[in-house]
Amino acid sequence: MNQSPRVERRPSVCPHDCPSTCSLDVEVIDGRSIGRVHGARSNTYTAGVICAKVARYAERIHHPDRLLHPLRRIGPKGSGAFERVSWDEALDIVAAKFLEAERDFGSASVWPYYYAGTMGYVMRDGINRLRNVKKYSGQYSTICTATSYTGFVAGTGRLAGPDPREMAVSDCVVIWGTNAVHTQVNVMTHALRARKERGAKIVVVDIYMNATMKQADMALLVKPGTDGALACAVMHVLFRDGYADRAYLARYTDRPQEFEAHLKSRTPQWAAAITGLSVDEIEAFARLVGERKRTYFRLGFGFARQRNGSINMHAASCIPAVTGAWQHEGGGAFHSNSAIYHWNKGLIEAHETVDTSIRRLDQSQIGRILTGDPDALLHGPPVKAMLIQNTNPVSVAPEQELVKRGFSREDLFVCVHEQFMTETARMADIVLPATMFMEHDDLYSAGGHQHFQVGPKLIEPPGECRNNHEVIHAIAQRVGAAHRAFDMEPRALIDGTLKDSGWGSLADLEARVHVDAQPPFREAHYLDGFAYPDGKFRFMPDWTKVPSGNNGPMGPWTAIPSFPDHWAVIEEATGEHPFRLATSPARQFLNSTFNETPTSREKEGRPEVMIHPLDAGPLGIGDGDWVQLKNHRGDVYLRARLFDGVRRGVLIAEGLWPNEAHPHGRGINTLTGADQPAPYGGAAFHDNRVALAKVDPAIASAPSLSSAADKRAAEAIVV
Ligand code: SF4
Repeated sequence: MNQSPRVERRPSVCPHDCPSTCSLDVEVIDGRSIGRVHGARSNTYTAGVICAKVARYAERIHHPDRLLHPLRRIGPKGSGAFERVSWDEALDIVAAKFLEAERDFGSASVWPYYYAGTMGYVMRDGINRLRNVKKYSGQYSTICTATSYTGFVAGTGRLAGPDPREMAVSDCVVIWGTNAVHTQVNVMTHALRARKERGAKIVVVDIYMNATMKQADMALLVKPGTDGALACAVMHVLFRDGYADRAYLARYTDRPQEFEAHLKSRTPQWAAAITGLSVDEIEAFARLVGERKRTYFRLGFGFARQRNGSINMHAASCIPAVTGAWQHEGGGAFHSNSAIYHWNKGLIEAHETVDTSIRRLDQSQIGRILTGDPDALLHGPPVKAMLIQNTNPVSVAPEQELVKRGFSREDLFVCVHEQFMTETARMADIVLPATMFMEHDDLYSAGGHQHFQVGPKLIEPPGECRNNHEVIHAIAQRVGAAHRAFDMEPRALIDGTLKDSGWGSLADLEARVHVDAQPPFREAHYLDGFAYPDGKFRFMPDWTKVPSGNNGPMGPWTAIPSFPDHWAVIEEATGEHPFRLATSPARQFLNSTFNETPTSREKEGRPEVMIHPLDAGPLGIGDGDWVQLKNHRGDVYLRARLFDGVRRGVLIAEGLWPNEAHPHGRGINTLTGADQPAPYGGAAFHDNRVALAKVDPAIASAPSLSSAADKRAAEAIVV
């Protein structure tokens, strides 16, 4: 008699690069496979809500294209021709190549490279232990948070803010520069509750009529990179019309009178010409936040992905300092709570071995670095060997033509530890199969709220997949790297990290499932002062000393305006490149993750660029036509989608689609730049000037190079 499967519900937590870090309730079937993934109601922020792409995670974890065995390249780079080898053979090759590079070019010629494919501390950050012990080149992490964190901390002195659950008790929630419906769905839970229960208004500031803006009571469609102008004009009105809280300003801010004088000329008329908004829209927004002291500014990453992104983020965070909203429940500004956990990752990363004389290479400039740009290499040795975990730079990094050229170097050895044959894995010499989050133990904390949690191993990994910690340990043994953490089990590393950080033990945490680490109200609202020594919020930050943790190479900081302003350093349109392109996130993908699952690809459709019909008309572009986007970095083909929810002159391409989904295998990051925004670098993914043209379908639909490579790979891979 057939027995029905045994289904257990086990707690877990989403590991993906998303501020929500949702608590999960996972169906485990017969102890071997994953069923439906649910949101766990016990987490009072994520509150049982998760996104659809993670709800159907079974499709990803049990995907037939998972990498299952170590592979060694047997054809030209990028050909996709690999043969199966044993773990020992693969690891011996990696170690030999690392030792060879170290011997011939010095330890800094080895560059371990990673990012946030998992946000678990053991699996994500253990690569830094190997780096530190061996004195390999450092990674200056700029690709996501550098501009936004810096901008927020410039004002407050700390990367933390009022409890995001307070959005539900706000009278106005301003969702600024984040398409929360696509990228952090839980923001909507609390904002919509405030509207339903209190009649709160939802304002959305963004650059196109996206899924979040469609839910707004007030939709403010700004031109990309002009948020600083909007913020200044709003504050001009707040001072002008008596909405400024002068007692609060005197007690809690640095230079209120000078700032007010500075804003005198930043009128709504001035900002209207820059932002594309009408004077009436700016006045109405200012009145709304002036009248509603409980206004919660939920500031996202998107609007900071500009060359003036830090300055715009800082400007937006200044508004509640003018109204005094910071002091009210349901008021203030929030970007991330990363500072509240006071993690001590010394054990995981072997901090006592850090040598500050070793260079730190800018992760976003990987194209320049691998093609030998002396400035990007900080005038040190070439990169000769890499280990890559949890990221896919041949899709996600800017300046893709350089990135691809770099990875094509015959003298560069690359080992990629991955879950799928990504674009980067395809360029590797050795490919190692990696676990997914339900196949290993790890520790996670949320940027978008205040919980931390363990995600336990729920099932055995398929094939020969190994977790990151195992791989780092095995390489360390072979290259002579010694540290006690290499020999510890992941659970012991979690336990040690919790204890070192003052959060009890792993057993304590598992008994509680997750911990709510929200600081007390007074601290979260800065009622005892902001996190600078004098307790004052900074309208005029010292941009050379922002305590953001991103103390890497400096951009052109001396030119930053003293007070919030519109800083005109964005890649403005020109006669040759008359459009501004933003590469916004798609709902069903998360960077390049999930673009391998059939359901996500099916729901997203195809790579498209949104074009205003009045821009498309004169160029003879109709809905669905093939178009070429081009700038000095390269060109990309995709389909036109005529859409009047973008401003004239602005183009939006939601992604990230695999490179192979574009004709000629050139993905959207072919067009994005890697120059370092002030003050501490970053990646201005939404700040690109391009030309737009309709193209002959025969040119556009030529088979992609990577499709051809895939075909060869399918024939050549032995598994
Ligand atoms: S919303 Fe974000 S954190 Fe939550 S399940 Fe989806 S990807 Fe994960």
